[in-house]
Amino acid sequence: MTETDADDLAHLIRNAHRVVVFTGAGISTESGIPDFRSPGGVWSKMKPIMFQDFVASRDARREAWTRVFNRTAGWTGASPNAGHYAVAQLVEAGKVTSVITQNVDNLHQDSGVPDSKVIEVHGNASYAKCLTCGKRYELEALRHHWEADEDITCMFCTGLIKTATISFGQAMPEDEMARATEEALLADLFLVLGSSLVVYPAASLPLVAKKAGSNLAIINREATEQDPYADLVLNTDIGPLMSAVMGRL
Ligand SMILES: [Zn+2]
Repeated sequence: MTETDADDLAHLIRNAHRVVVFTGAGISTESGIPDFRSPGGVWSKMKPIMFQDFVASRDARREAWTRVFNRTAGWTGASPNAGHYAVAQLVEAGKVTSVITQNVDNLHQDSGVPDSKVIEVHGNASYAKCLTCGKRYELEALRHHWEADEDITCMFCTGLIKTATISFGQAMPEDEMARATEEALLADLFLVLGSSLVVYPAASLPLVAKKAGSNLAIINREATEQDPYADLVLNTDIGPLMSAVMGRL
């Protein structure tokens, strides 16, 4: 990161009224959460459990819950970093209207962003939900069922309970995608922090914003296919950059 990088991003943020932040794995790797798609990441070590298999197979559910309670996937239990806190400050200041995230780690909420301002397009791994009635369950309240080797089902409707993530093979959450699209259309700065922009349909949002007249800034360690459309591209770590930017606003 250079001083000019921080100046350039600070300039864009200062001149914007509706900043929409879009985050991916890159903001959370700085908190020690593995990027599960990268080489050496979680999915190169163990196969994801498809939604259809989870629903159809008790063994698949058992394996899924074992990964949760053994923390095999490493999705939860980390702490927010400087990047998350900078975003939280910008939300608090009214500069950022919403945070769209592909992450399931709850770190935006943990850093102080109100739940109502976080749009989770891939769900959340820090709690569970009944697949039938939607009732929320805290993970620790379910642990004894896993320890007793019981199938984990809803106490109200007997539906299957699963972590609140969007699994491979599971439909995207319609309400969240609709809200995210609306936010992208209203943005005057769409700020990508730590996403390689390869997982669709979420990755279509920056161009939705750009086509509607927003500025687009992409901050990611590696280049992305959407860099040619961006007003600013910085290939750098997020925490140090955002700390420097906050000092300039
Ligand atoms: Zn239920």
